[in-house]
Amino acid sequence: MPTLVTEESQITNIFGTSGFKCKKLVTTLSSEATIFDIIQSIIKTKQPEIDSPFSVLDLRVVINQMKKWTTNLPTVKPFYAVKCNPNISLLGALALLGANFDCASPVEIESVLSLGVSPERIIYANPCKSESHIKYAASVGVNVTTFDTVGEVEKIKMWHPNCELVLRIKPEEDNRAQFGLGLKFGALLNEVPELLKAADEAGLKVTGVSFHIGSAGASTQAYRGAILLAKTVFETASHLGMPKMKILNIGGGFTPGSKFDEASLNINEAIKSYFENEEDLVVIGEPGTYFAETAFTLATKVIGKRVRGELREYWIDDGIHGSLGNVVYDYFIITCSTFRFGSKLENVTCKDTKTYPSTVFGPTLDSTDTVLKEYELPELEMNDWLVFSNMGAYTSSLGTNFNGFSSYAKNVYIAYSSDQVLSQENNS
Ligand SMILES: *Cc1c(COP(=O)(O)O)cnc(C)c1O
Repeated sequence: MPTLVTEESQITNIFGTSGFKCKKLVTTLSSEATIFDIIQSIIKTKQPEIDSPFSVLDLRVVINQMKKWTTNLPTVKPFYAVKCNPNISLLGALALLGANFDCASPVEIESVLSLGVSPERIIYANPCKSESHIKYAASVGVNVTTFDTVGEVEKIKMWHPNCELVLRIKPEEDNRAQFGLGLKFGALLNEVPELLKAADEAGLKVTGVSFHIGSAGASTQAYRGAILLAKTVFETASHLGMPKMKILNIGGGFTPGSKFDEASLNINEAIKSYFENEEDLVVIGEPGTYFAETAFTLATKVIGKRVRGELREYWIDDGIHGSLGNVVYDYFIITCSTFRFGSKLENVTCKDTKTYPSTVFGPTLDSTDTVLKEYELPELEMNDWLVFSNMGAYTSSLGTNFNGFSSYAKNVYIAYSSDQVLSQENNS
């Protein structure tokens, strides 16, 4: 069984001498302990005073994801997209593993800098920033940002003239992506010359190109087309006699599963075919989902129950306005398990028990705050636990204070295995 450790010395130990201390509870475990072992151990140790809901950040997952990234995409530097999940311990772990950061606001920049990460490791990847935010970036030394309009060039010239620019382009839409980002951002190919000239006339340096193929479900083939498009922008810049571009930013859209292998192959091949002769090329990526999704597991408690014939209705203490906002999207495959805390904690699985079509509501008064519909679950009782896997991407970061339920994401336990070390690897 894993043991719960709460002393800060132990915690500091995990994060080494980085100066970054995690104040949250930490679970130490052997590398074989499953996330469910950890959750059971937390519930057992802390019951009954534990505040539900809580989530567990499994640092073993983060470490493995980084290893996999380095193996598959050795030439691509990861800049973690903070908006996906800004949990400070996740950011701290990624910083120690050598990741850089994609921030879109002063608050995101501040939390990365608070870890002692140097501003050179941040790209301000929001193509449309308010003037005060640009001024802030200048004041803290964040000197690379994206743009896709002439208006943005004017603002940057005024408030941060030493900032390097990366031109965000709009790749071919992939309608399989659940969150297309091209609706809002990205210059069209025919707008590129005007934008490059505007930057040049403003005395600003455009050092590269970025794109985002869309999150959740985009085809891994989309990277190919987008990288080719970026190449044409590099060529346009050199035809216009501008300084040579060097940054190819391939954005996010990576998912943690086997699709990552497919994406990596496409990316490596496309870089090889289209950028073979670019000597000083720096390739960066902005993975969000890839690092966050599988690293968090959410445990919620059953706080209400109704029986209507065969149908079971339950209320739990987290919902779509809290950490479960992602379950309303079709792409998200809900994986949940149930636990009962009695004299001993049992894992009630669908395999060995009769199941019922169940509806699971969140705690707010909004009737769309429904987490599961006609989902087969074993019979649950009050105070049973419903545990959701893969709850790290666009979950708590999208939560609101609706109905005063603002505390969903407060309890984050950190699980790590003492046989794994968080250390600077070769990505910085
Ligand atoms: C949201 C976002 C990302 C992260 O996307 P994922 O699909 O979660 O990897 C990366 N870059 C930019 C500019 C974004 O807006």
